[in-house]
Amino acid sequence: MTEFVSDTSELAAFDPATRTLSVRQRPERDGLAVHSFEFSARLPESVDEVTVCIENAGATQYSGAWAHHVPYQCTDGEWAPIAGRPRYDQGRYSFSVPVRDRRVHVAWYPPYSLDDVEEFIERTFGGHPYASVDRGEGGHLTIGLGNVRAPAIVVVARQHPGESIGSFVLEGMVGRLLADTHEARRLLESFRFVVVPAVNLDGMQSHLHRHDSHGRDINRSWALRVDPTDVAVVKAVIDKLPDVFAFVDVHGDEVSRVNFVNYAIGKTSKDRRLQYERLVQSLVSQDPQLLVWKSLSFPKRFAKALIRQHKLIRPGAKTANAFVAGRHHTLALTVEPSVHLLTPERARALGAWIASSLSTVATSVETAS
Ligand SMILES: [Zn+2]
Repeated sequence: MTEFVSDTSELAAFDPATRTLSVRQRPERDGLAVHSFEFSARLPESVDEVTVCIENAGATQYSGAWAHHVPYQCTDGEWAPIAGRPRYDQGRYSFSVPVRDRRVHVAWYPPYSLDDVEEFIERTFGGHPYASVDRGEGGHLTIGLGNVRAPAIVVVARQHPGESIGSFVLEGMVGRLLADTHEARRLLESFRFVVVPAVNLDGMQSHLHRHDSHGRDINRSWALRVDPTDVAVVKAVIDKLPDVFAFVDVHGDEVSRVNFVNYAIGKTSKDRRLQYERLVQSLVSQDPQLLVWKSLSFPKRFAKALIRQHKLIRPGAKTANAFVAGRHHTLALTVEPSVHLLTPERARALGAWIASSLSTVATSVETAS
């Protein structure tokens, strides 16, 4: 029968008559199924093309996005969006892809696993004079980069484990900081960068999309009486820093067809506030397109959630953005690249753009090179 390898999905059937490979997404929480998928299959017979059908797509958290979602196919190790037009009908999402050597390998978005995080760090920071890499007790990696006496910029990714696009954005940011350029040297002189590339370790290990294996949405868990481990780790990292200049939380947007940044500014000095306003203005970009707007206050988000989702969001829920801006009197940015707009390559370009934008507030005197 069909060979099938996946952490997110289960094989339901292969119908040779219609050449349809049917799969079902594994459960995530409260009757919802995992939204992102990746699987490879070896078909029992040779065909030119197969139709993949996700039978329970309607049971995933962002089912409203399937109608305009284009999945990816991996050919010879390269991921690319599929050429055809997917269909979403009565909760079933289907698309056709070419088959080579009876094999298909497809995904919601190109994957970026914990192994990929490790490999990226090894490849990027091995022996770099400006970098330090620490692994905490729970296994969280923290990368230190730049001037340890300068104000800190904290960058975190993968609070939502399935948002692999966030890791490509992070790669782009780090790549720009380590480039052999005047700009990069100035940024590393002006700031201390502290990067936590994989926050929701448990969710990534469990191949979930939005939650951890206890059903918690980590980015709604910043004001709980007892912190989930992943939140506690990041809070401890930030608490140790004497001056947090900015906090950047990188996500991935499943639904929107725009890339955007939400920001919040805590109580701070007038000078800092002016710097923050300048930085926020400089983030707006045409290519890759990036829109910037102020985070909605909690009552507004609450009302929006009531209207849009017809269900309550937990009143105690607090995002990292709101928490860090308030507690550390800083600028907190939530970066939401759209999976519909950006390939991984474009996501890296967006990350590089964000890093470059920091130059507008880098204050150190440039050293002669
Ligand atoms: Zn997210």
